[in-house]
Amino acid sequence: MTARKKTVNYIETEDLYRPRQVIDMADERLIVPPGHAFYDCRAPESHEAYVFDQQVVCPVCDKEMTVKGQRLTKLKLLDVDKDFRHRFDGFEPLWYGVWVCIDCYYTDFYQRFRKKPPPYKVQAILDRSMNLKTQFPIYQTEPRKVNEVFASYYLALKTSLTDVSDFQGLVKIRTSLAWLYRDVEDEIMEDLITIRW
Ligand SMILES: [Zn+2]
Repeated sequence: MTARKKTVNYIETEDLYRPRQVIDMADERLIVPPGHAFYDCRAPESHEAYVFDQQVVCPVCDKEMTVKGQRLTKLKLLDVDKDFRHRFDGFEPLWYGVWVCIDCYYTDFYQRFRKKPPPYKVQAILDRSMNLKTQFPIYQTEPRKVNEVFASYYLALKTSLTDVSDFQGLVKIRTSLAWLYRDVEDEIMEDLITIRW
């Protein structure tokens, strides 16, 4: 049996032993569920070799923005977990899996981001856009912080909920969130997102 190479999914910042800080639901981060905490870690340097800046136009509000593309051909698969999660050498695709429009907050997996949603969904996204923007300012830092990654998936959830038929998208978002919670060792939230959501 070969020893499994450990994948570095994140770098913890100096507060390594900071107690789990549950976010006060009265603050602006209302898009996350009760129990979600502040996770003090960021992307490792090794991610940089696998991402690049690219310009895309939001199919909902037509604004151009910069997002992170992934150099998929460079990825080296190390292992596949029992739950089919793929592990790559020096890179975690989950961190860059969804793109967020910083103007209207339309968010989706990058593979389908450019596809214009049906008119009823466009309207639903635009209708809730202003409300979300006032509640939840988006921050984008480099290297990326895991809290930004969580936020992007919860925004994807908001977009997904504008289309009740998007069951596949919903499952993929939930699975991604569960894996992210596992990486930051928050078993409570991993169980919650897996069982109840
Ligand atoms: Zn937009």
